[in-house]
Amino acid sequence: MGLLSQGSPLSWEETKRHADHVRRHGILQFLHIYHAVKDRHKDVLKWGDEVEYMLVSFDHENKKVQLVLSGEEVLETLQEKGERTNPNHPTLWRPEYGSYMIEGTPGQPYGGTMSEFNTVEANMRERRKEATSILEENQALCTITSFPRLGCPGFTVPEYKPNPVEGGASKSLFFPDEAINKHPRFSTLTRNIRHRRGEKVVINVPIFKDKNTPSPFIETFPEDDEAARASKPDHIYMDAMGFGMGNCCLQVTFQACSISEARYLYDQLATICPIVMALSAASPFYRGYVSDIDCRWGVISASVDDRTREERGLEPLKNNNYRISKSRYDSIDSYLSKCGEKYNDIDLTIDKEIYEQLLKEGIDHLLAQHVAHLFIRDPLTLFEEKIHLDDANESDHFENIQSTNWQTMRFKPPPPNSDIGWRVEFRPMEVQLTDFENSAYVVFVVLLTRVILSYKLDFLIPLSKVDVNMKVAQKRDAVLRGMFYFRKDICKGGNAVVDGCGKAQSSAEPAVEEYALMSIDTIINGKEGVFPGLIPILNSYLENMEVDVDTRCSILNYLKLIKKRASGELMTVARWMREFIAKHPDYKQDSVITDEMNYSLLLKCNQIANELCECPELLGSAFRKVKNSGSKTESSN
Ligand code: GLU
Ligand code: MG
Repeated sequence: MGLLSQGSPLSWEETKRHADHVRRHGILQFLHIYHAVKDRHKDVLKWGDEVEYMLVSFDHENKKVQLVLSGEEVLETLQEKGERTNPNHPTLWRPEYGSYMIEGTPGQPYGGTMSEFNTVEANMRERRKEATSILEENQALCTITSFPRLGCPGFTVPEYKPNPVEGGASKSLFFPDEAINKHPRFSTLTRNIRHRRGEKVVINVPIFKDKNTPSPFIETFPEDDEAARASKPDHIYMDAMGFGMGNCCLQVTFQACSISEARYLYDQLATICPIVMALSAASPFYRGYVSDIDCRWGVISASVDDRTREERGLEPLKNNNYRISKSRYDSIDSYLSKCGEKYNDIDLTIDKEIYEQLLKEGIDHLLAQHVAHLFIRDPLTLFEEKIHLDDANESDHFENIQSTNWQTMRFKPPPPNSDIGWRVEFRPMEVQLTDFENSAYVVFVVLLTRVILSYKLDFLIPLSKVDVNMKVAQKRDAVLRGMFYFRKDICKGGNAVVDGCGKAQSSAEPAVEEYALMSIDTIINGKEGVFPGLIPILNSYLENMEVDVDTRCSILNYLKLIKKRASGELMTVARWMREFIAKHPDYKQDSVITDEMNYSLLLKCNQIANELCECPELLGSAFRKVKNSGSKTESSN
């Protein structure tokens, strides 16, 4: 999750003293990059996925599953055997927030040819196999978005007690600092977010009220003032960054052929974020309880919310410069393309000086306000050795602010002096249990970018409506019950070109009839007379493409999964997990997930992921690959 510098991390007080320095030089670094590569064209379409994993250990005798705090050593071994031995190694491994997490990506980005869609799953399988091969007996690599008993007593191995004392990083009642990755970036982020905020982070997730759930559901924390004040009735209370950033996701990054294409994709995909998030919902359980939400998003958002009381609007502004309406981890606040301008209806807090400076340097209003908005934030970590940099050839200060603005979409300028192009990152998806599903979601999103670019589609709606969608998307069963604002005529902008806006009245107010409330089924599968549906559009695109039989078969299989998840014929991971727990013989319909229930659930997840059992409710009847071969067996689904 971002830039890893080595060195001695500074405290919040020290970091704060350098905040203006970091911002000033961050902007200079951005300007150097911008001026050097703003006109770069014809970079080829490349893309890559990122999968985040958890390491778990099964204690079969005591029917318990725990998170293994060995991410650092596992990572070291994987890198040593992989990229450090062979620069063309097919996988790359990176650290993640939890000491029980690692992140894997393909060794090389994928290119623009269709046949590469047929290598995604094989690469994900390779990653799973590679990492699994170095684990100890009874350990497994899991792609689950949230560990159901994260923060419950003894949830890690080795076991540690939480350390809610001054001087700790989280000061959490539940989440021990030992579960944070040992690289100093992660504990420093944790501590500095808390110090900047002035108190522990507060996460309250509504509990799912089952038949026997106490009502009101109240937990008391007499030993901790902050917790006693912050925890809400009928909510699962959490108090540490680890409850959010300790969750796993699935991301896709695209390289566009030019800066304007990147800006166009950024905007178009921003509208898709809530839709795909709801479709990928996979995180219904928190701190040992069944919650009433299906997605991690709001939890992570609260888990890194470093805003002070003043910035949150709870006290008059005295020591801070702005009221800030969102956490650093949240949905985007402004579109970047000219076509998006008229849909920018969210109040944007910006650093005015930076904005003016960027305009003076020849940057247009939309990009200038985007950067000036990111730069209202303070740096959260700074390493003593990394304060004075060469602004023409380094970008750490820019990246410092950029990489701690964790938004649904990220617009990524090329690193200095590299042959990487302008990129955008798609960040809302929850990670799925199997490589098949993860490939399906990735391929769906990548194909969508192809049709957006080829057919010049226009999904834009007022950004405030996308925010409404983000809220709906996280609710329980949003995929079946939620209604989402979506643009009705996505081809209307027929002549909307990447660089300009094509439409006659580009500055006019968007007409209300441009969008309507639709179900995910309508958006994905279409509905006669209402909306053509994304899958039918992708299918017609595919029909016109030359694709080898095997790749076509894989892609159609992936799209079928998405289609059936959208229609409700197949369950989301969240729904499937809920039903698994509801049917568990130990479950008392009181919203409590015991160690034993957690064990059976994770065991089942692991069996499904390793194809030791089928799960038709989730996957349909057959989505199998023959082991060690790139080709598919027959899929009857
Ligand atoms: N794990 C975070 C999530 O679930 C993302 C961290 C990152 O940016 O890599 O969204
Ligand atoms: Mg990550």
